[in-house]
Order: sequence, then C-alpha cells, then structure tokens
Amino acid sequence: MALKVALTGNPNVGKTSLYNRVTRSFEHVGNWHGVTVGSIEKTVVYEGKTVTVTDLPGMYSLSVYSFEEGIARDRVLEGSDDVVVNICEVNNLVRNMYLTLQLAELGAPLVVVVNMMDELKKQGKVLDASRIEKELGVRVIPMSAKYKTDSDTFMSEVCSFADSEKAKPILPYLKQLPLAKVESIISENLRRSGLKKDWACLKVLENDEFVKEKLDLSKAQNEELKKLGDYSGRVAQLRYEYIDYLTEGAIKDDPKGDKKHKSEGGLSSVDRFVLNKYLALPLFLLLMAAIFVVTFGFLGKWLSDLLELFISNCIGGPLTAWLSHAGAPKWVVALIGDGIINGVGGILVFLPQVVLLFFFLALLEDSGYISRVAFMTDGLFRKIGLSGRSVFTMLMGFGCSATALLTARGLEDENTRKKTVLLTPFMSCSARLPVYTAIAGAFFLNGRPLIVFAMYVLGAAVAIVIAAIMEHSGSRLKSGKLSFIMEMPPYRMPTFERVFQIIANNAKVYIIRVGTVIFAFNVIIWLLSNFSLTKGFVSDGSGSILQTVAGLIAPCFAPLGFGNWRAVTSLLSGLVAKEIVISSISSLGGPEAIFMEEYAGAAAVAFMTFTLLYTPCIATLGAMRKEIGLKYMFFGLFLQLGVAYVISLLVYWSGVLLIMFKPPVWGIVLVCVGSILVATLMIAVRRLVSGGCRSCGKCGRDCAKRKNK
Ligand code: GDP
Ligand code: MG
Repeated sequence: MALKVALTGNPNVGKTSLYNRVTRSFEHVGNWHGVTVGSIEKTVVYEGKTVTVTDLPGMYSLSVYSFEEGIARDRVLEGSDDVVVNICEVNNLVRNMYLTLQLAELGAPLVVVVNMMDELKKQGKVLDASRIEKELGVRVIPMSAKYKTDSDTFMSEVCSFADSEKAKPILPYLKQLPLAKVESIISENLRRSGLKKDWACLKVLENDEFVKEKLDLSKAQNEELKKLGDYSGRVAQLRYEYIDYLTEGAIKDDPKGDKKHKSEGGLSSVDRFVLNKYLALPLFLLLMAAIFVVTFGFLGKWLSDLLELFISNCIGGPLTAWLSHAGAPKWVVALIGDGIINGVGGILVFLPQVVLLFFFLALLEDSGYISRVAFMTDGLFRKIGLSGRSVFTMLMGFGCSATALLTARGLEDENTRKKTVLLTPFMSCSARLPVYTAIAGAFFLNGRPLIVFAMYVLGAAVAIVIAAIMEHSGSRLKSGKLSFIMEMPPYRMPTFERVFQIIANNAKVYIIRVGTVIFAFNVIIWLLSNFSLTKGFVSDGSGSILQTVAGLIAPCFAPLGFGNWRAVTSLLSGLVAKEIVISSISSLGGPEAIFMEEYAGAAAVAFMTFTLLYTPCIATLGAMRKEIGLKYMFFGLFLQLGVAYVISLLVYWSGVLLIMFKPPVWGIVLVCVGSILVATLMIAVRRLVSGGCRSCGKCGRDCAKRKNK
C-alpha cells in the first residue's frame, strides 16, 4: 500500500514548490487566492517505498471560509493520510503556526516543515527548531524547498515518521478550557457523529458552525453551552500565547553567520525608507493613488473604451441589425440589444480595470510590500478592531467592492474578517462615481468636485465609525485575537509566470461572474422594467411591473426627498450594478425629472448618499455570502440599507435646513469646529476616567506588549 502524504499550510508557504520537488512535477507555483482550486496528487517511488503526495489548497485555519479551504479541511478531517505535513514559512512562523496548533489539536499524524530557511540564512539568522520540536512534541523539519538535497531529507524523514510510534502533541492550554463540561453536555451527539471527541468539544467552544451542524445539537443543549460563555476569542488567544511561548527566541542571530548579510538593527535600507515614520503613509497613499490613476484612469479607461467599442460595433450592432432584418419581434430585439448586449456588455467593459487592479495587487502582495503596509497601519486600526490587512481590503473597495472582498481572506481573526467584509462595501466603489458626477453636475455646477470628494470621505468615515461601534459596544463581532503582524517577509521579485497566471485567472473569474449572475439579473430587471402585467411589452417602461412595484415602495423614500417611482426604480436596478443607477436615471428623464420637489438640491445629495451607502450590487452580496456565510450576508444587507436610510435622512434634512435658513458660511464652520471639539473632549474625558488602556484584561497581548515597551 502506498504511503499517503498530504501537504497543508497557509497560502504561499511553498507547498507546491515542495510538491514539485518531491514528485518531479511542474505544477504552477504561486498561489494567489483561488489559483489552486482543487488538490493535485502524484505517486512516486522513494527508496523502494510507494508514496502518494497530495498538494492541498492553502488554508489559514480549520474553520473554513472559502471553497478551497473546505477541500483542504475535509481532506484533513477525513484522516485518510498517513502523514499530514504542515508547511510553515520561517518568515511568518507565528501566523503560520496557528494552523499547526489546530492540526495538532485534531490529532493528525503531523510533521511540521519550516520552509524558506535559505532566506533566514541570508539574514544571518538561525532557527532553533529542536526547542519547538521538544516543547510541542511534534517532528519539525527546517528546510528549503528550493534545494533538492533538502527535499530528499524531507522524504526520508517523512518515511521514517510514518513507521514510527506517534506521540501525542503537547498542548497545555487545552487544560484552561472547560472541555469536560462541553463533553458532558454533548456526549450522546459526539458518539453519534463519529467526530473526534476532544477536538469536537474544542470546536464547539469555538462556535464552529460546521462541527455544530454535524453534531446536530438540540435547542436545550445550545442553551446550556451558551451558559458556559463565549470562548471563541479566548481559544484563539490561548493558541497565540502558546505560539509566542514556543517561538520565543527561536530565531537568533547566527554567531557563525555571514556578517555581511546581517541586517542592521533589523531593518533593511529599503525598509528604512518604506517604514519611515514620516514617509511611510505619504508613500503608501502616493502608490495607491498611482495605481488608481492607472487602473481606473487612463490605461484602464482606455482599454475599457476599446472593449466597449468592440462590443457595440462588432457584436451588438450587427446582431440587432440582423435580428430586425430577420423579422424578430420588437421586444426580442430590444431584449438582446438593450438588456443583454448593452447591459452585460456595459459591465464586461470593466474587465481590463479588474484585471489591472488584481495585477497591481499581486505585485504588491508578492513583493512583500503589503505585509509592510499592514504592519504600519496595524496599531492604528487595531484600536477599532480591524487590522492592517483590513485597510488593504478597504482601499481596494474604492475600486470594486465584490473583488475587494476576496482579499479579506488573508485575515485570520474571524471577527475582524467579518467586519472587514461587512464594512468594505461602504467604500465608494468606482461604479458609483458616474452617479455622483452626473447628479452633482446637474445641480451644483461649481461645487461638484467637493461633493464627489465628500462622498468618498463619508463612505470611509461611516465604515470607521461602525467598526468602532462594533468593537466597543460589546457586540459579538468584537475582535478576538489581534496579534497578527509581527514578522515581515523579505522583499521578493514576482515572476513573470505568476503574473501571467494572476491575470488569466482573474479574467476568467470575472467573465464567469458577468456571464452567470449579472447576465441573469440583467435579463430579469430588463423584463420587469419593459413588461406590464396588463399591456405586455411597453417600450418606454410606463406601467411596467418594475414601475408598479417601485411606486409601492416609493412612499418610504418620501422622508429622504426622493419618494417617486423613477428614483426608486433606478435604485432597484442599481442592485444589479451601480452603473445601472445612472443609466436608468437617464432613460427615465434625467436628474432634473427625478428631483423636482421643493428642495431638489438636498434630495439630490440625499440620493447620492443613499447610492453611496446601500448595497453596492448583487455580485457583492454573492461575494459576501461566499466569504462570511448567508447569515452575515443578510446582516450586512440590512446594515447597509439601514445605515443608508438613516444617513440620507440626516443629509436631506440638514440640506433642507440649510436651504431654508441660508446660514452664513462662518456659522457652518463654527458648528463643525464646535462639534469636533466637543467630540475630542468627550474622548479625552473617557480616557481619563478609565485610565489609559480601555481594553485591559481583554486585549491581553496588546497590553503585555505595551508594558514591555
Ligand atoms: P504554495 O502557495 O504554498 O503552494 O506556495 P508556492 O510553492 O507556490 O510558493 C510560493 C512562493 O515561495 C513562490 O514564489 C516560490 O518560488 C517561493 N518559495 C517556495 N519555497 C521556497 C524556498 O525554500 N525558498 C525561497 N526563497 N522561496 C521559496
Ligand atoms: Mg500552491
């Protein structure tokens, strides 16, 4: 029988590199999210032994967020492998070992590989693997998948491990958890489920949906478990504390090492510049601005225009002409011309921008720069329960919410991740920009740039305020372990092959999305806005089903100043894609026809605010569902709608008051400055009263770190 060996680990730690080495294969190296969708496996003969090696997709933890992670988790849970190899990267040991502990908790036949030792050597450092090995009670192999000799050693270690007696890993923190109590509550379900007892109890404490579902717990049991308290954050914290203990002092300067490679004071010369206290932020903003200008400005726009020209002239035009010529009914021609080619094509034209965005992201991520940005902003964002990596996702939200959400996968704290996914849609995505420019252009000629800019700031401010509320109001979304960024990988040069792969993959994903979800919804919305229940096809949309429905909802928006069916229709159709808001407005008579009430200016700004804050599009909802589950997707949907409504209401009535009383500019400035002063004072007083670190006792590590300073 062949020996079965599975390779697991976080993305980008070198699983595929090691796989290629030991199986002499040429699988794609480099693992941008979603690249390795399934697992690959190959059987080789090593010193007379048949060994089947499987390269699994990357995963961050055994609590699964994505489809790929699910494949890896299920495989490990199955327990069919003789050896489960967990590959960690020496530059990210703390973060990577989070999965190691989870695999150890599961009792998998575990061997830990610490990869990329060559990079450590270059830094003039050594790893004391034997201490980790002894303390954790698990075999640890330091190596470089780059070197063939290392992979030979790896294979012989794995083979000898498979034959040896397997010791239980040492996980002292488990004693601090009420596992026995959990077991007494769910003992019957445990027996029935066939899950590993200790592990399942731990997962129940962690509130793992998957395991709880498998256990099929009754309501009474759930109640009883609830009484034990919420342990999900605590478990994560204990794991990280243990990892800290295990890895403390594990990486040291090599006394025999090559002195000239040693980095002075821990920072390389590039990092001295990039992480400079004063330069870091401006540099980052400049880089982001440059990426945005290229992606959404000249290059991206030029490519999009080209694609649009191609779609309308080479596909749309000839096809509709041919259809009319062939005598197809008027509504069929309109459906295909307007609904499908213009509608779907209108979204497909963003393909170059999406691909460009992901291309730059991959460059930044691969080169090691993103880890540095996360490192820089971590402290600041930790205060509101987000991490440095959330900043990255949220910035990407200015481009496209749906694609930005995919980048949240790098966040390993579940609540921080959920919050990031819930809040990113508040960032003003590029599809909303045409809505602001068109409406603001119609009402405020001179103030247009200011209003558009205000929308961007408002979106970011709303996200930050909600994050702070979620973190400090005792909600269930309080961040668990915020101890994420401690090490930085060295700068690496991305390879051409990898860059190409990223472009191809993202183009594929985008085309599939446009071709399925957006296509279907576009057709549905088109049919609803062009057919009446009584009159059939209505080419101008009057009396259409959508108008009737929108007319019913419209009164709800009267307090916001735009309670008419036209405005509501465009908002509804905007759910397919935000660009459609402005295309429906223009087909329904333009902004002037929609905002006719007395305080039209205020209504227009309220409408823009609503457009900014409500659900970006169906695709974003789909991405949310995929990333954080159906329950939180609905929570996000209601949050977005609620926030959009309340803030638009405030904006409208502030506008009405402004128009009514026409206060002088200095009066407005005085009120603004006054409010900021009062808010600052309140925060200062609260700090004084609670004495410095407010999260003491809960944020544990953070406090300890501060004390050490
Ligand atoms: P996976 O996502 O875990 O499958 O990781 P990959 O095998 O795709 O490797 C990610 C990146 O790390 C690639 O750029 C590899 O070339 C690089 N890499 C893998 N192993 C090593 C190593 O031992 N040393 C160095 N310096 N780079 C490595
Ligand atoms: Mg891979």
